Amino acid sequence: MEDLTAKQECAGAFDAHHPPSSEIIDKCVHCGFCLPVCPTYVLWGQEMDSPRGRIYLMKMASEGATEMNATWVSHFDSCLGCMACMTACPSGVDYGKLIEATRAQIERETERSPGEKLHRRFMFETFTRPERLRRMRLPLLVYQKSGLQAVVRGLGLLKVLPKKMQAMEALLPKLGPREAVAEVTAAVGTNRRRVGLLLGCVQREFFSQVNAATARVLAAEGCEVVAPQAQPCCGALLVHAGEEAAAVELAKRTIDAFERADVETVITNAAGCGSNVKEYGHLLRDEPEYAERAIAFAAKCKDISELLTELEPRARRQRLKLRVAFHDSCHLQHAQGVRSQPRALLSSIPGLELTEIPEAPICCGSAGIFNLVQPDAATELGDRKAGLITQLKVDVVATGNPGCVLQMQSALARLGQMTPVVHTIQLLDASIRGESGESLWR
Ligand code: SF4
Ligand code: SF4
Repeated sequence: MEDLTAKQECAGAFDAHHPPSSEIIDKCVHCGFCLPVCPTYVLWGQEMDSPRGRIYLMKMASEGATEMNATWVSHFDSCLGCMACMTACPSGVDYGKLIEATRAQIERETERSPGEKLHRRFMFETFTRPERLRRMRLPLLVYQKSGLQAVVRGLGLLKVLPKKMQAMEALLPKLGPREAVAEVTAAVGTNRRRVGLLLGCVQREFFSQVNAATARVLAAEGCEVVAPQAQPCCGALLVHAGEEAAAVELAKRTIDAFERADVETVITNAAGCGSNVKEYGHLLRDEPEYAERAIAFAAKCKDISELLTELEPRARRQRLKLRVAFHDSCHLQHAQGVRSQPRALLSSIPGLELTEIPEAPICCGSAGIFNLVQPDAATELGDRKAGLITQLKVDVVATGNPGCVLQMQSALARLGQMTPVVHTIQLLDASIRGESGESLWR
Protein backbone atom coordinates (compact mmCIF):
# COMPACT_ATOMS: atom_id res chain seq x y z
CA MET A 1 0.00 0.00 0.00
CA GLU A 2 2.86 2.32 0.92
CA ASP A 3 4.53 1.61 -2.42
CA LEU A 4 1.35 2.41 -4.27
CA THR A 5 1.02 5.72 -2.44
CA ALA A 6 4.62 6.47 -3.24
CA LYS A 7 4.01 5.69 -6.90
CA GLN A 8 0.95 7.93 -6.96
CA GLU A 9 3.00 10.72 -5.39
CA CYS A 10 5.80 10.12 -7.87
CA ALA A 11 6.19 13.40 -9.73
CA GLY A 12 6.41 12.81 -13.50
CA ALA A 13 9.94 11.81 -14.49
CA PHE A 14 11.10 11.93 -10.85
CA ASP A 15 10.90 9.10 -8.34
CA ALA A 16 8.92 9.47 -5.11
CA HIS A 17 11.89 10.12 -2.81
CA HIS A 18 11.87 13.88 -2.26
CA PRO A 19 11.43 15.12 -5.83
CA PRO A 20 12.13 18.86 -6.32
CA SER A 21 9.34 20.63 -4.42
CA SER A 22 6.49 21.91 -6.64
CA GLU A 23 5.80 24.52 -3.99
CA ILE A 24 9.29 25.97 -4.41
CA ILE A 25 9.18 25.62 -8.21
CA ASP A 26 5.89 27.55 -8.32
CA LYS A 27 7.40 30.44 -6.35
CA CYS A 28 9.46 31.36 -9.42
CA VAL A 29 7.67 34.21 -11.22
CA HIS A 30 10.11 34.16 -14.18
CA CYS A 31 11.25 37.75 -13.54
CA GLY A 32 14.84 37.02 -14.62
CA PHE A 33 16.53 39.05 -11.86
CA CYS A 34 18.78 36.03 -11.25
CA LEU A 35 20.11 35.87 -14.82
CA PRO A 36 22.93 38.46 -14.65
CA VAL A 37 24.56 36.75 -11.65
CA CYS A 38 24.34 33.20 -12.98
CA PRO A 39 27.83 32.24 -14.18
CA THR A 40 26.65 29.83 -16.86
CA TYR A 41 24.14 32.35 -18.24
CA VAL A 42 26.86 35.01 -18.20
CA LEU A 43 29.14 32.66 -20.18
CA TRP A 44 26.71 31.20 -22.70
CA GLY A 45 23.57 33.39 -22.67
CA GLN A 46 21.32 30.32 -22.96
CA GLU A 47 17.99 30.33 -21.12
CA MET A 48 18.25 26.64 -20.22
CA ASP A 49 21.61 27.31 -18.55
CA SER A 50 20.08 30.00 -16.33
CA PRO A 51 18.33 29.52 -12.96
CA ARG A 52 14.96 30.36 -14.51
CA GLY A 53 15.51 27.88 -17.34
CA ARG A 54 16.65 25.14 -14.97
CA ILE A 55 13.59 25.65 -12.76
CA TYR A 56 11.44 25.39 -15.89
CA LEU A 57 13.18 22.12 -16.80
CA MET A 58 12.45 20.79 -13.30
CA LYS A 59 8.80 21.76 -13.70
CA MET A 60 8.59 20.01 -17.07
CA ALA A 61 10.09 16.83 -15.60
CA SER A 62 7.82 16.92 -12.56
CA GLU A 63 4.78 17.22 -14.85
CA GLY A 64 6.00 14.35 -17.02
CA ALA A 65 6.43 16.68 -20.02
CA THR A 66 10.06 15.62 -20.45
CA GLU A 67 12.30 12.71 -19.54
CA MET A 68 15.58 13.01 -17.68
CA ASN A 69 17.50 12.48 -20.92
CA ALA A 70 21.13 13.39 -21.58
CA THR A 71 20.37 16.94 -22.75
CA TRP A 72 18.12 17.61 -19.77
CA VAL A 73 20.80 16.28 -17.38
CA SER A 74 23.53 18.36 -19.04
CA HIS A 75 21.82 21.61 -17.97
CA PHE A 76 22.02 20.49 -14.33
CA ASP A 77 25.56 19.14 -14.62
CA SER A 78 26.61 22.59 -15.82
CA CYS A 79 25.04 24.33 -12.80
CA LEU A 80 27.76 25.31 -10.33
CA GLY A 81 25.46 25.16 -7.32
CA CYS A 82 26.89 28.57 -6.46
CA MET A 83 23.52 29.89 -5.16
CA ALA A 84 24.08 33.38 -6.60
CA CYS A 85 20.54 33.07 -7.95
CA MET A 86 19.16 32.71 -4.41
CA THR A 87 20.76 35.96 -3.27
CA ALA A 88 19.41 37.77 -6.34
CA CYS A 89 15.89 36.33 -6.24
CA PRO A 90 13.25 38.77 -4.92
CA SER A 91 10.68 35.97 -4.61
CA GLY A 92 12.74 33.87 -2.20
CA VAL A 93 13.00 30.80 -4.45
CA ASP A 94 15.09 28.25 -2.54
CA TYR A 95 17.05 27.04 -5.54
CA GLY A 96 19.50 25.24 -3.23
CA LYS A 97 16.86 22.73 -2.17
CA LEU A 98 15.71 22.32 -5.78
CA ILE A 99 19.14 21.58 -7.23
CA GLU A 100 20.06 19.26 -4.36
CA ALA A 101 16.86 17.22 -4.90
CA THR A 102 17.32 17.25 -8.69
CA ARG A 103 20.90 16.03 -8.47
CA ALA A 104 19.92 13.18 -6.14
CA GLN A 105 17.23 12.18 -8.68
CA ILE A 106 19.75 12.27 -11.52
CA GLU A 107 22.20 10.03 -9.64
CA ARG A 108 19.46 7.52 -8.77
CA GLU A 109 17.49 7.50 -11.98
CA THR A 110 19.98 8.00 -14.80
CA GLU A 111 23.07 6.12 -15.92
CA ARG A 112 26.41 7.88 -16.39
CA SER A 113 29.01 6.67 -18.90
CA PRO A 114 31.61 4.19 -17.53
CA GLY A 115 34.36 6.85 -17.78
CA GLU A 116 32.27 9.42 -15.93
CA LYS A 117 31.34 6.89 -13.25
CA LEU A 118 34.99 6.03 -12.71
CA HIS A 119 36.02 9.67 -12.50
CA ARG A 120 33.30 10.51 -9.99
CA ARG A 121 34.02 7.40 -7.92
CA PHE A 122 37.71 8.34 -7.77
CA MET A 123 36.85 11.84 -6.53
CA PHE A 124 34.37 10.67 -3.92
CA GLU A 125 36.61 7.85 -2.69
CA THR A 126 39.58 10.20 -2.41
CA PHE A 127 38.41 13.69 -1.45
CA THR A 128 36.07 12.47 1.30
CA ARG A 129 38.73 10.28 2.96
CA PRO A 130 41.37 12.25 4.88
CA GLU A 131 43.44 9.08 5.45
CA ARG A 132 43.67 8.51 1.68
CA LEU A 133 44.57 12.15 1.04
CA ARG A 134 47.31 11.82 3.66
CA ARG A 135 48.77 8.83 1.84
CA MET A 136 48.92 10.93 -1.33
CA ARG A 137 50.98 13.66 0.34
CA LEU A 138 54.38 11.94 0.08
CA PRO A 139 54.24 11.09 -3.66
CA LEU A 140 52.90 14.58 -4.37
CA LEU A 141 55.64 16.20 -2.30
CA VAL A 142 58.26 14.21 -4.23
CA TYR A 143 56.59 15.22 -7.53
CA GLN A 144 56.71 18.90 -6.56
CA LYS A 145 59.99 19.18 -4.65
CA SER A 146 62.08 17.03 -7.02
CA GLY A 147 61.40 19.45 -9.85
CA LEU A 148 59.50 16.79 -11.79
CA GLN A 149 56.33 18.88 -11.78
CA ALA A 150 58.16 21.86 -13.27
CA VAL A 151 59.69 19.65 -16.00
CA VAL A 152 56.39 17.94 -16.82
CA ARG A 153 54.58 21.27 -17.02
CA GLY A 154 57.39 23.00 -18.87
CA LEU A 155 57.51 20.31 -21.59
CA GLY A 156 53.71 20.27 -21.91
CA LEU A 157 53.65 16.53 -21.19
CA LEU A 158 50.28 16.83 -19.45
CA LYS A 159 48.59 17.47 -22.77
CA VAL A 160 48.51 13.71 -23.41
CA LEU A 161 46.24 13.25 -20.37
CA PRO A 162 42.44 13.55 -20.56
CA LYS A 163 41.25 17.11 -19.87
CA LYS A 164 39.80 16.24 -16.46
CA MET A 165 43.14 14.77 -15.32
CA GLN A 166 44.92 17.89 -16.58
CA ALA A 167 42.51 20.01 -14.55
CA MET A 168 43.26 17.97 -11.43
CA GLU A 169 47.01 18.39 -11.87
CA ALA A 170 46.69 22.13 -12.49
CA LEU A 171 44.81 22.52 -9.21
CA LEU A 172 47.36 20.70 -7.02
CA PRO A 173 48.16 22.81 -3.98
CA LYS A 174 51.78 23.66 -3.23
CA LEU A 175 52.47 21.30 -0.36
CA GLY A 176 54.51 22.12 2.71
CA PRO A 177 54.94 20.45 6.09
CA ARG A 178 51.72 19.20 7.68
CA GLU A 179 50.71 21.14 10.81
CA ALA A 180 48.58 19.01 13.10
CA VAL A 181 45.86 20.50 15.31
CA ALA A 182 45.74 18.99 18.82
CA GLU A 183 42.56 17.31 20.08
CA VAL A 184 42.29 20.12 22.65
CA THR A 185 43.92 23.56 22.50
CA ALA A 186 43.61 25.58 25.69
CA ALA A 187 42.29 29.14 25.64
CA VAL A 188 44.76 31.94 26.30
CA GLY A 189 43.64 33.71 29.47
CA THR A 190 40.12 33.35 30.77
CA ASN A 191 38.10 30.76 28.87
CA ARG A 192 35.23 32.47 27.06
CA ARG A 193 33.82 29.53 25.09
CA ARG A 194 34.40 25.85 24.31
CA VAL A 195 34.28 25.44 20.54
CA GLY A 196 34.62 22.47 18.20
CA LEU A 197 36.66 22.72 15.00
CA LEU A 198 35.51 20.96 11.84
CA LEU A 199 38.78 19.95 10.20
CA GLY A 200 37.50 19.18 6.69
CA CYS A 201 39.22 16.71 4.35
CA VAL A 202 41.21 18.66 1.76
CA GLN A 203 41.67 21.40 4.38
CA ARG A 204 43.00 18.89 6.96
CA GLU A 205 45.54 17.28 4.66
CA PHE A 206 46.49 19.89 2.06
CA PHE A 207 45.81 23.15 3.95
CA SER A 208 46.72 22.08 7.46
CA GLN A 209 48.27 25.53 8.02
CA VAL A 210 44.75 27.03 7.77
CA ASN A 211 43.39 24.74 10.50
CA ALA A 212 46.45 25.47 12.66
CA ALA A 213 45.94 29.23 12.19
CA THR A 214 42.23 28.88 13.02
CA ALA A 215 42.97 27.04 16.28
CA ARG A 216 45.64 29.61 17.27
CA VAL A 217 43.38 32.60 16.62
CA LEU A 218 40.47 31.01 18.50
CA ALA A 219 42.74 30.24 21.46
CA ALA A 220 44.19 33.77 21.40
CA GLU A 221 40.63 35.12 21.52
CA GLY A 222 39.85 33.07 24.64
CA CYS A 223 38.28 29.92 23.19
CA GLU A 224 39.12 26.37 24.20
CA VAL A 225 39.30 24.50 20.89
CA VAL A 226 38.29 20.85 20.57
CA ALA A 227 39.15 19.19 17.26
CA PRO A 228 37.83 15.61 17.49
CA GLN A 229 40.41 13.51 15.66
CA ALA A 230 37.79 10.86 14.87
CA GLN A 231 35.57 13.27 12.92
CA PRO A 232 34.86 12.06 9.36
CA CYS A 233 34.28 14.07 6.21
CA CYS A 234 31.10 16.16 6.67
CA GLY A 235 29.76 14.95 3.30
CA ALA A 236 29.63 18.34 1.56
CA LEU A 237 31.02 17.13 -1.78
CA LEU A 238 28.59 14.21 -1.80
CA VAL A 239 25.53 16.37 -1.06
CA HIS A 240 26.48 18.86 -3.75
CA ALA A 241 26.92 16.01 -6.25
CA GLY A 242 23.62 14.24 -5.47
CA GLU A 243 25.14 11.31 -3.54
CA GLU A 244 22.55 11.58 -0.80
CA ALA A 245 22.73 8.17 0.90
CA ALA A 246 26.51 8.32 1.46
CA ALA A 247 26.22 11.94 2.66
CA VAL A 248 23.58 10.99 5.24
CA GLU A 249 25.91 8.39 6.80
CA LEU A 250 28.79 10.86 7.08
CA ALA A 251 26.50 13.50 8.58
CA LYS A 252 25.43 11.06 11.31
CA ARG A 253 29.05 10.24 12.19
CA THR A 254 29.96 13.95 12.24
CA ILE A 255 27.13 14.68 14.68
CA ASP A 256 28.21 11.75 16.88
CA ALA A 257 31.79 13.04 17.00
CA PHE A 258 30.81 16.59 18.00
CA GLU A 259 28.18 15.49 20.52
CA ARG A 260 30.91 13.53 22.30
CA ALA A 261 33.09 16.68 22.26
CA ASP A 262 30.37 18.58 24.15
CA VAL A 263 31.00 22.01 22.59
CA GLU A 264 28.85 25.15 22.52
CA THR A 265 29.74 26.12 18.95
CA VAL A 266 31.11 24.23 15.95
CA ILE A 267 33.50 26.29 13.82
CA THR A 268 33.95 25.80 10.10
CA ASN A 269 36.65 27.44 8.01
CA ALA A 270 35.82 25.90 4.62
CA ALA A 271 32.72 27.55 3.17
CA GLY A 272 31.53 24.44 1.32
CA CYS A 273 31.62 22.40 4.54
CA GLY A 274 30.01 25.24 6.51
CA SER A 275 27.05 25.53 4.19
CA ASN A 276 26.60 21.76 4.30
CA VAL A 277 26.62 21.29 8.08
CA LYS A 278 24.22 24.21 8.53
CA GLU A 279 21.75 22.18 6.41
CA TYR A 280 22.01 18.92 8.37
CA GLY A 281 18.46 19.40 9.67
CA HIS A 282 17.21 19.11 6.10
CA LEU A 283 19.56 16.29 5.08
CA LEU A 284 18.63 14.11 8.07
CA ARG A 285 14.90 14.89 8.13
CA ASP A 286 13.98 11.25 7.43
CA GLU A 287 16.22 9.80 10.16
CA PRO A 288 14.19 9.33 13.35
CA GLU A 289 17.26 8.96 15.59
CA TYR A 290 19.02 11.98 14.16
CA ALA A 291 16.44 14.47 12.85
CA GLU A 292 16.22 16.59 16.01
CA ARG A 293 19.89 16.20 16.87
CA ALA A 294 20.77 17.39 13.36
CA ILE A 295 18.72 20.57 13.84
CA ALA A 296 20.44 21.21 17.20
CA PHE A 297 23.88 20.53 15.66
CA ALA A 298 23.25 22.81 12.67
CA ALA A 299 22.21 25.64 14.99
CA LYS A 300 25.65 25.46 16.66
CA CYS A 301 27.61 25.79 13.40
CA LYS A 302 29.29 29.08 12.53
CA ASP A 303 31.91 30.18 10.07
CA ILE A 304 35.09 31.30 11.85
CA SER A 305 34.45 34.90 10.73
CA GLU A 306 30.96 34.85 12.27
CA LEU A 307 32.21 33.80 15.70
CA LEU A 308 35.18 36.17 15.72
CA THR A 309 33.03 39.19 14.87
CA GLU A 310 30.61 38.24 17.68
CA LEU A 311 33.38 38.10 20.28
CA GLU A 312 34.88 41.35 21.55
CA PRO A 313 38.49 41.19 20.21
CA ARG A 314 40.96 40.34 22.95
CA ALA A 315 44.24 39.58 21.15
CA ARG A 316 46.22 42.60 19.99
CA ARG A 317 46.43 42.98 16.19
CA GLN A 318 49.79 44.11 14.86
CA ARG A 319 50.48 45.99 11.68
CA LEU A 320 50.36 44.17 8.34
CA LYS A 321 51.20 46.50 5.52
CA LEU A 322 49.41 44.73 2.70
CA ARG A 323 46.95 45.58 -0.03
CA VAL A 324 44.40 42.76 0.05
CA ALA A 325 41.55 41.79 -2.29
CA PHE A 326 38.82 39.81 -0.56
CA HIS A 327 37.17 37.12 -2.67
CA ASP A 328 33.69 36.04 -1.57
CA SER A 329 33.36 32.29 -1.78
CA CYS A 330 29.87 31.41 -3.07
CA HIS A 331 29.18 29.00 -0.24
CA LEU A 332 29.99 31.77 2.21
CA GLN A 333 28.30 34.77 0.58
CA HIS A 334 25.29 33.12 -1.07
CA ALA A 335 24.71 29.86 0.79
CA GLN A 336 25.50 31.19 4.31
CA GLY A 337 24.85 34.92 3.81
CA VAL A 338 28.25 35.73 5.36
CA ARG A 339 29.69 38.82 3.68
CA SER A 340 30.44 41.59 6.15
CA GLN A 341 32.17 39.43 8.80
CA PRO A 342 35.37 38.45 6.91
CA ARG A 343 35.70 42.06 5.72
CA ALA A 344 35.34 43.27 9.32
CA LEU A 345 38.08 40.88 10.44
CA LEU A 346 40.46 42.06 7.74
CA SER A 347 39.65 45.71 8.43
CA SER A 348 40.55 45.19 12.09
CA ILE A 349 44.19 44.61 11.08
CA PRO A 350 46.19 47.88 11.30
CA GLY A 351 47.93 48.85 8.06
CA LEU A 352 45.92 46.45 5.90
CA GLU A 353 44.22 48.03 2.89
CA LEU A 354 41.13 46.14 1.75
CA THR A 355 39.92 46.29 -1.85
CA GLU A 356 36.88 44.81 -3.55
CA ILE A 357 36.94 42.56 -6.62
CA PRO A 358 34.37 43.61 -9.25
CA GLU A 359 31.60 41.10 -10.07
CA ALA A 360 31.82 39.73 -6.51
CA PRO A 361 28.55 37.72 -6.76
CA ILE A 362 29.88 35.67 -9.69
CA CYS A 363 31.65 32.39 -8.93
CA CYS A 364 35.37 31.85 -9.65
CA GLY A 365 34.53 28.44 -11.14
CA SER A 366 35.61 26.30 -8.20
CA ALA A 367 32.20 25.26 -6.81
CA GLY A 368 32.92 21.93 -5.10
CA ILE A 369 33.99 19.50 -7.82
CA PHE A 370 32.80 21.73 -10.69
CA ASN A 371 36.34 22.59 -11.83
CA LEU A 372 37.12 18.86 -11.99
CA VAL A 373 33.99 17.75 -13.85
CA GLN A 374 33.43 20.81 -16.08
CA PRO A 375 37.01 22.03 -16.64
CA ASP A 376 36.30 24.21 -19.71
CA ALA A 377 33.61 26.35 -18.08
CA ALA A 378 35.59 26.48 -14.83
CA THR A 379 38.67 27.70 -16.69
CA GLU A 380 36.68 30.47 -18.39
CA LEU A 381 35.26 31.61 -15.06
CA GLY A 382 38.66 31.38 -13.37
CA ASP A 383 40.30 33.45 -16.11
CA ARG A 384 37.57 36.07 -15.83
CA LYS A 385 38.06 36.38 -12.06
CA ALA A 386 41.86 36.37 -12.33
CA GLY A 387 41.71 39.15 -14.93
CA LEU A 388 39.65 41.30 -12.56
CA ILE A 389 42.03 40.62 -9.66
CA THR A 390 45.10 41.46 -11.72
CA GLN A 391 43.80 44.98 -12.40
CA LEU A 392 43.67 45.67 -8.65
CA LYS A 393 47.44 45.30 -8.17
CA VAL A 394 47.14 43.71 -4.75
CA ASP A 395 49.78 41.95 -2.65
CA VAL A 396 47.51 39.05 -1.76
CA VAL A 397 43.99 37.67 -2.22
CA ALA A 398 42.09 36.46 0.87
CA THR A 399 39.15 34.07 0.81
CA GLY A 400 37.31 31.55 3.00
CA ASN A 401 37.30 28.30 1.07
CA PRO A 402 40.11 25.92 0.02
CA GLY A 403 38.50 25.25 -3.37
CA CYS A 404 38.59 28.97 -4.20
CA VAL A 405 42.24 29.18 -3.13
CA LEU A 406 43.17 26.40 -5.58
CA GLN A 407 41.01 27.73 -8.39
CA MET A 408 42.30 31.30 -8.18
CA GLN A 409 45.94 30.31 -7.73
CA SER A 410 45.72 28.21 -10.83
CA ALA A 411 43.88 30.92 -12.81
CA LEU A 412 46.32 33.65 -11.74
CA ALA A 413 49.25 31.41 -12.70
CA ARG A 414 47.77 30.98 -16.20
CA LEU A 415 47.99 34.77 -16.53
CA GLY A 416 51.59 34.67 -15.34
CA GLN A 417 50.62 36.27 -12.01
CA MET A 418 52.15 34.93 -8.81
CA THR A 419 49.77 36.84 -6.50
CA PRO A 420 49.35 34.58 -3.46
CA VAL A 421 45.88 33.45 -2.36
CA VAL A 422 45.41 32.66 1.34
CA HIS A 423 42.63 32.05 3.84
CA THR A 424 41.42 35.17 5.68
CA ILE A 425 42.26 33.59 9.04
CA GLN A 426 45.92 33.25 8.05
CA LEU A 427 46.24 37.02 7.74
CA LEU A 428 44.59 37.55 11.12
CA ASP A 429 46.85 34.90 12.66
CA ALA A 430 49.97 36.56 11.17
CA SER A 431 48.82 39.92 12.57
CA ILE A 432 48.19 38.51 16.07
CA ARG A 433 51.54 36.70 16.06
CA GLY A 434 53.36 39.80 14.83
CA GLU A 435 54.62 38.08 11.68
CA SER A 436 54.83 39.62 8.24
CA GLY A 437 52.19 38.57 5.74
CA GLU A 438 54.96 37.49 3.38
CA SER A 439 55.91 34.71 5.83
CA LEU A 440 52.73 32.95 4.65
CA TRP A 441 53.77 32.52 1.05
CA ARG A 442 57.54 32.63 1.08
S1 SF4 B 1 23.38 27.86 -8.63
FE1 SF4 B 1 24.73 29.29 -9.75
S2 SF4 B 1 25.10 28.28 -11.75
FE2 SF4 B 1 23.33 27.24 -10.80
S3 SF4 B 1 21.54 28.31 -11.60
FE3 SF4 B 1 22.04 29.35 -9.66
S4 SF4 B 1 23.39 31.05 -10.25
FE4 SF4 B 1 23.30 29.62 -12.01
S1 SF4 C 1 14.89 35.78 -9.69
FE1 SF4 C 1 13.71 34.17 -8.63
S2 SF4 C 1 11.62 34.41 -9.34
FE2 SF4 C 1 12.90 35.58 -10.75
S3 SF4 C 1 13.35 34.11 -12.43
FE3 SF4 C 1 15.03 33.94 -10.97
S4 SF4 C 1 14.42 32.27 -9.59
FE4 SF4 C 1 12.56 32.90 -10.71
